[in-house]
Amino acid sequence: MAAEETKQETLVTPPETQAKPTIEIQTNCLACGKPIRKLKRYYRDGKFYCSKKCWIKKVKTKQEKQ
Ligand SMILES: [Zn+2]
Repeated sequence: MAAEETKQETLVTPPETQAKPTIEIQTNCLACGKPIRKLKRYYRDGKFYCSKKCWIKKVKTKQEKQ
């Protein structure tokens, strides 16, 4: 009659040393997903797009959802 409770030793997880702050750098167009080059970019409402066309596209899709 050995009803011994198996002790579950909690494994000590090592602290993540690679805790780098995630900085979101937008490098792709929100509309088409193409990488935006530094010279060719269209900035609107705090977001980058590769062209005005893509911005309009994004705005239109937003309006349709609402
Ligand atoms: Zn685009």
